[in-house]
Amino acid sequence: MLKHAILYPLFLVAGCIASLVGIFGGSFIWFLVVLLLAIGLTTWGAFDIRLGYFTPTFFRKKYNAEGRVALTFDDGPSLHTTEVLRLLKAYQSKATFFCIGKQVLAYPHIAKQIVDEGHTIGNHTYAHPKSFGFLKEKDVVAELEQCSSIIYQTVGKTPKLFRPPFGVTNPSVAKGVQYTKQQIIGWSNRSLDTVTLQEDKIYERVCKKLKSGDIILFHDTSQRTVNVLKRLLPYLQKQGYISVSVDDLLNLHGYEK
Ligand SMILES: [Zn+2]
Repeated sequence: MLKHAILYPLFLVAGCIASLVGIFGGSFIWFLVVLLLAIGLTTWGAFDIRLGYFTPTFFRKKYNAEGRVALTFDDGPSLHTTEVLRLLKAYQSKATFFCIGKQVLAYPHIAKQIVDEGHTIGNHTYAHPKSFGFLKEKDVVAELEQCSSIIYQTVGKTPKLFRPPFGVTNPSVAKGVQYTKQQIIGWSNRSLDTVTLQEDKIYERVCKKLKSGDIILFHDTSQRTVNVLKRLLPYLQKQGYISVSVDDLLNLHGYEK
């Protein structure tokens, strides 16, 4: 298994042996090979949340999920969230909203509506800093705690589920999440709705890969996503899928008791 805790010491030992080979008259090529492998795997592990390279992550329900998927929405709440909520209600679907603390402060009534309508709110940091992947453990903890505290003050629940901005994990994020006792939630079906401008392509991308147990990543921050949802929800219904919250899909607790 590709796990940082196992591979890091292995790379250290291999690196030492390879540099000794170079020092004692051999070639330094092996040192270079080990170095490049270590950098490559660490970068891959940091950006592919499904690997769980630095810390355990949930990204789908592998077994016993017949017909169930979990729609998730990041970066809200925003003014588009109310339309997302209206559509979810019309199709009797539940979802998980990974909210940014600052956005909850800006739209507390929408955050309350999310919970009142039976959806789950997860933590997506206080400010969603672009530098999230470079924060020290104490700064990761500060981002997580500040967001959780705002969510608690707004909806009366402390989230247990956390989705890292940009899906980045690294040793600081792993330790931070261990400290706050939260569970990292990734995704298995990525809509790319913030990158792809054509709604058709977003819709087709999600449908093409769709399978039971999927955790589907959207952002409740644009009309584009709302429009895709208008087509996706009837499609899910027609195909016999039902969207449930991530905690429901994975049998986890969404909030601290
Ligand atoms: Zn985000």
